[in-house]
Amino acid sequence: MNRRTFFVLLGVPGAGKGTQAKLLEDRLGIPQISTGDIFRYNLKNETELGILAKSYMDKGELVPDEVTIRMVEDRLTQPDAKGGAILDGFPRNLVQAQAFDKITEPYGGVSLVPLIHISDEEAMRRITGRRVCRSCGAVYHVEFNKPKVADVCDLDGGELYQRNDDKPDTVRNRLYVYYKQTSPLIGYYFAKELLVELDGNRPIDQVQDELMGLLGERDAVA
Ligand code: ADP
Ligand code: AMP
Ligand code: ZN
Repeated sequence: MNRRTFFVLLGVPGAGKGTQAKLLEDRLGIPQISTGDIFRYNLKNETELGILAKSYMDKGELVPDEVTIRMVEDRLTQPDAKGGAILDGFPRNLVQAQAFDKITEPYGGVSLVPLIHISDEEAMRRITGRRVCRSCGAVYHVEFNKPKVADVCDLDGGELYQRNDDKPDTVRNRLYVYYKQTSPLIGYYFAKELLVELDGNRPIDQVQDELMGLLGERDAVA
């Protein structure tokens, strides 16, 4: 079998999934696939998909499964994903999780599901202070993960902006959607003996070290 390694990062919005996934990409040699980033890219380029997604994203609701699943399937055909991927923000409900099991079955299925825990208060603090680079998507925080120069990306000098859905009202709905639709995946992956839980209330590099310990081991086995 042509084995690939698929890690699914779980956690409330703001838990640090994107931050950790971007650091893991280089270290593990497999790409981050963030469905939120792909939707935002489409939005920026005003594609049909981006325009459709915007109406859901602005409210903090999930984009329909059919569209989202097809998009991930398509992304996985690109050559950089031939060794697998780190999924960030997908799957987000049981229908997506079951579809992803089918998609990955020929490659040995999902390898491991790290769940990053933080409190809702911490999630609010992190999301409302989050800033993103307009050109490369790098993620910063106005207090916890500052760029060297305010509002400027360290990596490429791009302008940092606040996501439209990172305003407090939308964030509350996103947390609600997480508990209602995404949190059942914790039980789903626990039952498959794929879940590992981490304390996300620690500095970025500490969470990264623990993740590398867990994932690096699993990557070597796969
Ligand atoms: P997610 O992808 O889970 O929504 P992000 O990776 O975008 O979360 O992180 C949310 C915000 O919290 C960002 O502003 C990021 O800089 C900040 N952040 C991420 N990890 C930590 C951490 N361990 N401690 C403090 N702030 C963090
Ligand atoms: P994120 O960048 O993961 O915070 O996602 C931002 C928004 O994109 C979400 O609030 C949803 O509207 C949409 N989105 C991202 N991933 C998914 C997914 N797997 N299924 C449905 N909608 C998604
Ligand atoms: Zn940048």
